[in-house]
Amino acid sequence: MFKYSLDNKRYHTLNYYYKNKYHQKIVKIPVDLGTSCPNKINGGCIFCDGDFACPKSTASIKEQFLKNKTVIDHKWPNSGYVIYFQNGTNTYGDFKKLTAKINEALTIPNVFGITIATRPDCINNNWITYFKELNQKTDLIIELGLQSMHNETLKLINRGHSREDFDKCVKLLKKHHIKVVAHIINGLPYETKEMMIDTAKYLNDLGIDGIKIHMLYVNKNTLLATWLKEDKFKLLTKEAYIDIVANQLTYLDPKIVIHRITGDPDLKALIAPTFLIKKVSLTNDIDKYMKEHDLYQGCNLK
Ligand code: SF4
Repeated sequence: MFKYSLDNKRYHTLNYYYKNKYHQKIVKIPVDLGTSCPNKINGGCIFCDGDFACPKSTASIKEQFLKNKTVIDHKWPNSGYVIYFQNGTNTYGDFKKLTAKINEALTIPNVFGITIATRPDCINNNWITYFKELNQKTDLIIELGLQSMHNETLKLINRGHSREDFDKCVKLLKKHHIKVVAHIINGLPYETKEMMIDTAKYLNDLGIDGIKIHMLYVNKNTLLATWLKEDKFKLLTKEAYIDIVANQLTYLDPKIVIHRITGDPDLKALIAPTFLIKKVSLTNDIDKYMKEHDLYQGCNLK
């Protein structure tokens, strides 16, 4: 049995990480800081429909937390919480105003951690100093989008930063013992299986603490939707995605926490692929594939 799982998975689950650390159920509660994204000025990433970049909530952090917690409490009463600043680029904007809002999260009872999603080109020295302090007070995680280690892909998808920007940012955060979770996307146009596996290997060598693995999906009103219509690229099949994820996991150190192995598309916006709608079935199929091929996280590391 794989050490870092409580439910027979062959990879280090987030559930295991939290249960092992806090001995209770921990639930992530998304809260909106109302930030936008600097890449929108350049047209944004080709798969972005802008929804993430729109400020959505003007309610206070506590108000948003209480509202979102009510929904969660029916399913998991008496949990601990991690406040998740997910939407937009959460270090892009007025430093004082944003940090004041983040600090508000620390005053909420039963909050064990704070997770902040941002871009690698949006963390300056002020933020590093702030994160160092915040890291002493709570279980801080910084989530950074990379998507691919290949600069030609980053250029193609109009990411607006390079692998070198990501590299520099991760090294700076790690120098100050701040945990980093990287986001990657499988199936970006013209990437081969080997290129995607190289992204996993690269992140492993960089010493990230966690990873979110997504499958590329196409939303309405995006440049990617036009490309799909014009048959400029092909989406991965379900079988190909399963094979790639299972193999990426084999090149990740077992200590790296796997926060996700598939995306969560908004069904109203989604064009394709529809197999992502059945998330549980997809994760079960990944488990099955790993078992059949006797693969587990890190098994291909020397
Ligand atoms: S970084 Fe995120 S919010 Fe900004 S354009 Fe890309 S996908 Fe959209």
